[in-house]
Amino acid sequence: MALAVPAMVNPPRDVLVPPTCLCRNAPTRAMTPLNPKAALWQPLAVFTKPKLSKEIQLTEFIQAIAGMVDGCAHEVENLIGVPVSVHTIQGQGVWSIIYRLRDQDMWCRDKVLELSQGYIQSAAKVSDVFHLLGCRRDPFRPKQKGFSALLGSMQDENVACWNLYDTGKCTKEDKCRWQHPVFRHRLVVLVKKLTIQTSDHPKADAALCQ
Ligand SMILES: [Zn+2]
Repeated sequence: MALAVPAMVNPPRDVLVPPTCLCRNAPTRAMTPLNPKAALWQPLAVFTKPKLSKEIQLTEFIQAIAGMVDGCAHEVENLIGVPVSVHTIQGQGVWSIIYRLRDQDMWCRDKVLELSQGYIQSAAKVSDVFHLLGCRRDPFRPKQKGFSALLGSMQDENVACWNLYDTGKCTKEDKCRWQHPVFRHRLVVLVKKLTIQTSDHPKADAALCQ
């Protein structure tokens, strides 16, 4: 008696491969069910833009320049190697460093100016409060007895007018869409001749007191 062997019927392909699967080589095994207790996915690192803008107050700007002016005066005094009398003056938006050298030491004049410029450039580079305007061109304007420079504040380097900060000039002036310094102070550095020596010129001292 022959056994009736049921004929094997291949299941239709649609049963194995979900019709929505577009991956030709995708495995046909069942997908792992979602775990409802799994922790919520969180990004490993939070990429936020570092905050570069900084609200600089006038007092902070003035303090930073005062520190730089004092530092510059002391540094040059220490490095120049000849007697020098230094005065620093804070005016309305204008700062002055006045070095006085004896007549016989006036050959050091250029060295004094050079050291001062180097100090100002270095200090401005590390400061996040004041910038030396025109630092990528020639930021120092020669004067008869020295030079002057402009120092400006920067609120937000993302919107700063780098044209102005780098070259000292912006052709768009008031119509510029980028931010110009809110505070701008001038620094004047001069080398003068020390003409009065109190011990040697009592007559001159007397004349000054009148
Ligand atoms: Zn501008």
